[in-house]
Amino acid sequence: MLSDIGEFKKSLRGELILRDDPRYEEARKLYNGMIDKRPLLIARCVDVADVITAVNFGRDQGLLIAIRGGGHNGPGLGSCNDGLVIDLSMMKSVRVDPASQTVRVDAGCTSGDVDHATHPFGLAVPFGIVSTTGVAGLTLGGGTGYLTRKYGLTIDNLLEADVVLADGSFVNASKSQHPDLFWALRGGGGNFGVVTSFLFQAHPVDTVYAGPIFWEATHAKAVMRAYRDFLPTAPEELGAFVGLKTVPSMDPFPKDYWGRRACAVISSYNGSAVEGEKVMAGLLSSVPSPIFNWMGAMPFPSMQALFDPFFPKGLQWYWKGDFVKSLPDEAIDTHIAQAAKAPSELSVMHLYPIDGAVRRVPKEATAWNAREATWSMVIAGIDSDPKGADMLKTWGRAYWKAIHPFNLEGAYVNFMMDDEVEGRIQATYGENYKRLVSVKAEYDPKNLFRVNQNILPSAS
Ligand SMILES: Cc1cc2nc3c(=O)[nH]c(=O)nc-3n(C[C@H](O)[C@H](O)[C@H](O)COP(=O)(O)OP(=O)(O)OC[C@H]3O[C@@H](n4cnc5c(N)ncnc54)[C@H](O)[C@@H]3O)c2cc1C
Repeated sequence: MLSDIGEFKKSLRGELILRDDPRYEEARKLYNGMIDKRPLLIARCVDVADVITAVNFGRDQGLLIAIRGGGHNGPGLGSCNDGLVIDLSMMKSVRVDPASQTVRVDAGCTSGDVDHATHPFGLAVPFGIVSTTGVAGLTLGGGTGYLTRKYGLTIDNLLEADVVLADGSFVNASKSQHPDLFWALRGGGGNFGVVTSFLFQAHPVDTVYAGPIFWEATHAKAVMRAYRDFLPTAPEELGAFVGLKTVPSMDPFPKDYWGRRACAVISSYNGSAVEGEKVMAGLLSSVPSPIFNWMGAMPFPSMQALFDPFFPKGLQWYWKGDFVKSLPDEAIDTHIAQAAKAPSELSVMHLYPIDGAVRRVPKEATAWNAREATWSMVIAGIDSDPKGADMLKTWGRAYWKAIHPFNLEGAYVNFMMDDEVEGRIQATYGENYKRLVSVKAEYDPKNLFRVNQNILPSAS
């Protein structure tokens, strides 16, 4: 039986939502409709003081604690059953400093919130490709997107983080203060404390030449091979990922192709349309004609939000990932064969580039360990119908089993569910794992923060 809930509630400036609250059902919902968790308490914090109060209350009451940023995590690690959710979604402030081109971001922001704030200054931070994704979880796992080839992972642009630790104390982590913690936060996920705000380096990004190009599935082999060979030759201003997908059965997609399997390259060139077209010609001249090429000049935030309408909150998602070093012809054939069995129109396989600037940061400089890889692969079984959940899982697992022998051992922690084989987390962090364990032992020795891709505070 919990004591002092009344006191806890009173001491928060934000809201405390209990199971009998009419807001509870909405408040507990996560982005992934496949996950159905029922926390005991949801503390919607509005400031650092609220977060400190919540951490202290949860710890002293022996509650399982989950930390929720944007709530987008695949296995729903932003929530928990029967515990306390520290929900940061009301902490939304963003402050741009145009002089230093830096931006301070509260932990409840989505990447769309930050793009909205930085765009008027002609700036952007490298985040992911769907604007509703939480900055916090994305950043702490690493963060890949269209600007990654030129400016690195999201963590490569992190300058500072404010953190509430397991003992309720507050620190600012940077290269000069708590450098071990700062190292671990850059890739080690939510293992070390509750980050309340991030300071990022932003970069000049304004109008981009961007959009999707789709080919018929019969051309997938040619397109994937050409993309593989083109990418290392392309300027880093081009972020471009390849995917195996289905043409959505809706306008404005050409009706003749609705529901048909396809191969797509989705790109964003940070520069003029004239330059961008020239760059893309390097790919387009060596492949058959596409079904459509919808690349054009657009504000960067529009590109970041281009896919939002296809992926509203509440769909069923089953994720599998891997880091990929190279893409031999046999792997391409395996991808095409497995993707052809996709159980739903929305299900996709994407290969996101992690070359360029990512490789210029030494492997030991941050906890993120896959800097020698070329792509981060995701297989995502997605559908609106909860009845299809098992089919999504069966497809994702079979696809992964077939393709994994071509890939590296580890995967991006943000593309994993919570059913990975034993040793995947260790394989993902490689030689950085040992140091992560020692930082965990120092900052969270009792593993208070364990609703995450967990790093145990002792190696055993
Ligand atoms: C549609 C979609 C598109 C995506 N695209 C990309 C992409 O392009 N690039 C990419 O890199 N990733 C992408 N992702 C993956 C994304 O990075 C993860 O889902 C990530 O976990 C989302 O962060 P969140 O804050 O929304 O998650 P939440 O569910 O809120 O939290 C996820 C994890 O982060 C931890 N956490 C959250 N906030 C904090 C905090 N303030 N302090 C400490 N720990 C915290 C939690 O403990 C939890 O373990 C995408 C996901 C979706 C659903």
